[in-house]
Amino acid sequence: MSTYHAFTEAEAIAYARRMPDLFAPDSELTSREIGDGNLNLVFHISEPATGKSIILKQALPYAKVVGESWPLTLDRARIESETLMIQESLCPDLVPHVFAYEKDLALTVMQDLSDHVIMRKGLIEGNRYPLFAQHIARFLANTLFYTSDLGMNQQEKKERVKQFINPELCKITEDLIFDDPYRDADTNNVPAAIRDAVETIWNDRELHLEVAILRNGFLTHAEALLHGDLHTGSIFIKEDSTKVIDPEFAYYGPMGFDIGAVFANLLLNYAAQEGWSRDEQARADYRGYLLGTIKEIWSLFHGEFRSLWSLYGVDRVQQSESYQDWYMQRLLRDTIGYAGCKMVRRVHGLAQVADINQLQDEAAKERAQRLALQIGTSLIKHHRHAQSIDELLDIAIQAVK
Ligand code: ADP
Ligand code: MG
Ligand code: MG
Ligand code: MG
Repeated sequence: MSTYHAFTEAEAIAYARRMPDLFAPDSELTSREIGDGNLNLVFHISEPATGKSIILKQALPYAKVVGESWPLTLDRARIESETLMIQESLCPDLVPHVFAYEKDLALTVMQDLSDHVIMRKGLIEGNRYPLFAQHIARFLANTLFYTSDLGMNQQEKKERVKQFINPELCKITEDLIFDDPYRDADTNNVPAAIRDAVETIWNDRELHLEVAILRNGFLTHAEALLHGDLHTGSIFIKEDSTKVIDPEFAYYGPMGFDIGAVFANLLLNYAAQEGWSRDEQARADYRGYLLGTIKEIWSLFHGEFRSLWSLYGVDRVQQSESYQDWYMQRLLRDTIGYAGCKMVRRVHGLAQVADINQLQDEAAKERAQRLALQIGTSLIKHHRHAQSIDELLDIAIQAVK
């Protein structure tokens, strides 16, 4: 037992040394803090003599936001490590292995993935990942199906819902994604160049209705154990491997929120190609690649989810084909709506994305921001009428014409 305190690098090394069967007792270990330092510490510990390494992630008891600190529960380290372990049981190759979780220190010891790159960075560099659609579709189908009332015992599922009540982290999402971007809130960071477009959003009653409906789903639809923060900064990738990290926002919520997060982040990069692509042809090619990836993810996800359901569904009442058709259509609609919300908040909300913010050319940045808002708001407004994923693609294609 240890009482909670934030580790220094020396303490992280001392802790790692005590992990059984990992490092030699007297060998030299090095530590580097590699986190971005807003919510958590991330220590990379390595043994130069053997090349062995691990990651220690420790939650901090506060979040640094808007220049201030606000208290934030350490229980999110439990949520993160327990979620990673459930995800590992369902798709072992798609998440880091967790070696240990220590409650009192809010500490998770996990596999080092430094041979991968954060996907957001990879996309900014213009890389393509041909296996990503397959990998993320399998991650989504398995984690969402097997934690839902479709794929697990419904009494046990209710126990699971209790295990993953995550009120403080959900509140961040409820405010920063579904509320603040739609009004003149202090937390927003409104870029001066697009103030007119942001004010249009603040005054758009039709849009506010759709966001309220999506927010209601986030508040009340305990469908499956979500990752809860599945943007391209939570995905480590290389040519032959994809690993999903950082599920501290995990809770029981609507499945479309996770799928929509993936699509939104591909579309934010799509919007930002104004500044990243060398010329018009390269831009069109890369945008085609991003939209093709979205289409492939939906199609593979849809196929895999339905086949899991038909083979392993726990409940006779839910097996009818027409019910499955209804369910999948509603899931598509949620996905499109949540994708829109996830885009809009990244333009003028509290936390933005490097895909857009790192653009040096001010005109390209403004165009990217306007495009992201246009695509995001169109997805939100269209979501309840959608029949096919092609409608999402069309909205993105029309926006850049
Ligand atoms: P936060 O919740 O603070 O965003 P993350 O889990 O996203 O923390 O980690 C922050 C950064 O630390 C990542 O972007 C990555 O650079 C590094 N990191 C986190 N987990 C690992 C890991 N398992 N292997 C290697 N690097 C990691
Ligand atoms: Mg971070
Ligand atoms: Mg995080
Ligand atoms: Mg993170």
